Amino acid sequence: MTFRLTEDPHRRLNVLTNEWILVSPHRTARPWQGEVAKAASSESPRYDPNCYLCPGNARSGGARNPSYTSTFVFDNDFAALKPEVAPGRYDEENKGLLVAEAESGICRVMCFSPRHDLTLSTMDVSGIETVVRTWVEQFRELGQLERIKHVQIFENRGAMMGASNPHPHCQIWSTSSIPEAPAKELISQRAYLKSRNRCLLCDYLELEERQQERFICRNEGFAVVVPFWAVWPYEVLLCSRSHIGTLLDFSEEDVRSLAAMLQRITSAYDRVFNAPFPYSMGFHQSPTDGEEHPEWHFHAHFYPPLLRSATIKKFMVGFEMLGNPQRDITPEWAAEKLKSLPGTHYSIAK
Ligand SMILES: [Zn+2]
Ligand SMILES: [Zn+2]
Ligand SMILES: [Zn+2]
Repeated sequence: MTFRLTEDPHRRLNVLTNEWILVSPHRTARPWQGEVAKAASSESPRYDPNCYLCPGNARSGGARNPSYTSTFVFDNDFAALKPEVAPGRYDEENKGLLVAEAESGICRVMCFSPRHDLTLSTMDVSGIETVVRTWVEQFRELGQLERIKHVQIFENRGAMMGASNPHPHCQIWSTSSIPEAPAKELISQRAYLKSRNRCLLCDYLELEERQQERFICRNEGFAVVVPFWAVWPYEVLLCSRSHIGTLLDFSEEDVRSLAAMLQRITSAYDRVFNAPFPYSMGFHQSPTDGEEHPEWHFHAHFYPPLLRSATIKKFMVGFEMLGNPQRDITPEWAAEKLKSLPGTHYSIAK
């Protein structure tokens, strides 16, 4: 008997985090019934007088937005972090049991556009280029601050992901420590570089591109795969095709390429169930801790929760909370599904 990746239950290793996930392909011979649902969505207006992110409107913290015409960034009125916190560590009786550390940081909100009714999937590429340029500026400004060791840019889209406001926006949380997910990836990328003298994601991408099974698409600057270790049904990993660490290494061409690729991924997502696709996405870049990071390879994760329709999501409960994540549809099946959508065919052309 030989083990078959396509049919037998197995676990797969996430080489970026060194964590395992359980794959149960035998549970779904035909997982997708072709069900498409129009999610209950009323036409969104270009301007919403009740939206705290629209130009000219008052925010709940009391401030008023300027009449901005492009992107707009402000410090979060109810930030999870404060810029000035006295450094310190707590360890009750030095037993290593009750341990805490002071954490400081800056949390910002960034509107992608003054238009209330747009999303990354419906903005034009030049509009998204402006978004990417603003990310570059923000990353530069926050990353060069002495106490900031990591800058996390992320977008929650859709009520299912807890996004309370449909106005297109992301958040930028910069912190005095490196958060858990990138900290694990740092260890793995560093270990791979040390043992093989090569970059983990450069090698991974090369292998995926050769195998093609999970490879979705690429343009001049970026490539997209459903990672071998994907947890979420339609999870994708976007990587720069050249070995760069952060947005600060971007050429003008990279800005255009990333904008085009973001539009391509998000609009493909909207076609999976013919409805706005919720997700959390974010960039993983080199820490801004003042050290050299030759191991780090610029990438972004898209974690969308939908499983079988515009309303049926995957839950991370039971074994997933107490053991490790599990999935039924294979990453290969999801890749084939995404590739079969119009506009996402593997292609060098934009
Ligand atoms: Zn708005
Ligand atoms: Zn690399
Ligand atoms: Zn990552």
